[in-house]
Amino acid sequence: MNQLSDLSVIEELLSRHGFHLSHKLGQNFLVNPSVCPKMAAESGAGEEVCALEIGPGIGVLTKELAKVAKKVVAIEIDERLIPVLEETLAGEENVAVLSGDAMEMDLHEVFREHFSGERVVVCANLPYYITSPLLMKLLEEKLPIEAITVMVQKEAAARLCAPPGVRECGAVSAAVWYYAEPKLLFSVSHGSFYPPPKVDSAVIRLALRREPPVAVFDEALFFRVIRVSFLTRRKTILNSLSAGLSLPKDRMAAVLQRAGVAQSARAETLSLSQFAAIANELSPKKEAEI
Ligand code: SAM
Repeated sequence: MNQLSDLSVIEELLSRHGFHLSHKLGQNFLVNPSVCPKMAAESGAGEEVCALEIGPGIGVLTKELAKVAKKVVAIEIDERLIPVLEETLAGEENVAVLSGDAMEMDLHEVFREHFSGERVVVCANLPYYITSPLLMKLLEEKLPIEAITVMVQKEAAARLCAPPGVRECGAVSAAVWYYAEPKLLFSVSHGSFYPPPKVDSAVIRLALRREPPVAVFDEALFFRVIRVSFLTRRKTILNSLSAGLSLPKDRMAAVLQRAGVAQSARAETLSLSQFAAIANELSPKKEAEI
């Protein structure tokens, strides 16, 4: 069994290193011994596939990934954990720990340096305060990633796995669905962590698409349309978009008509193809084509 999920081992380790957990950095460490092996097994890491981990903590998931992955690169923001990781991961020949903020790091550089020519998956127990921005960074930067298997808050998992057109879907979910096919894998109760957070969690897997599911002329405009539409999700799509994009209502109404979207529709009822049709109708590239 992985010793790092044993609470007495964790307490001894942390006290020996004089380490105090940071709530701000989302430091809730996994102590349920069955979770990390399951995450590693579901991640897609393997003899020919490397893994990128964000936030290794004391290395409990890192160790499981090291067993299955060709190579593991783990990025940890808290410098105080680096000596702890040096101790817990000593002897793991296929693991490299990078000290830094995953949100600020040039991940293309990390891939060039550590994963050149390799197949890569991401697997992490994410610090909840950066779930959405980090997932968007991983997806928008178009890194050569095959899948992202992450632990997130249960509510976030439900939202992220809700496809466009379903009420739980939000702007981030819609963007996630453009890049990937999300799937809820399993729930994890709050008692599986030390210290236990207030809410339960779930592990989701995003299988990255090779091709986007809809054709858009201008991705930045497409995502802007989605963001603006969900900002005022209770308003009609006509009102949300004309206010959010600062366009006269009659022009927006004509765009919606050409896109085949009812003016009275609401963001949460629209499919990705409808968002794409609106963005394509608004795109100067489209106008140039007509
Ligand atoms: N993987 C460990 C586990 O499962 O027990 C720890 C997970 S804990 C929820 C989140 C970890 O992410 C912490 O170690 C925290 O210091 C680290 N972290 C927080 N923000 C980060 C960031 N921006 N970049 C890299 N690591 C970060």
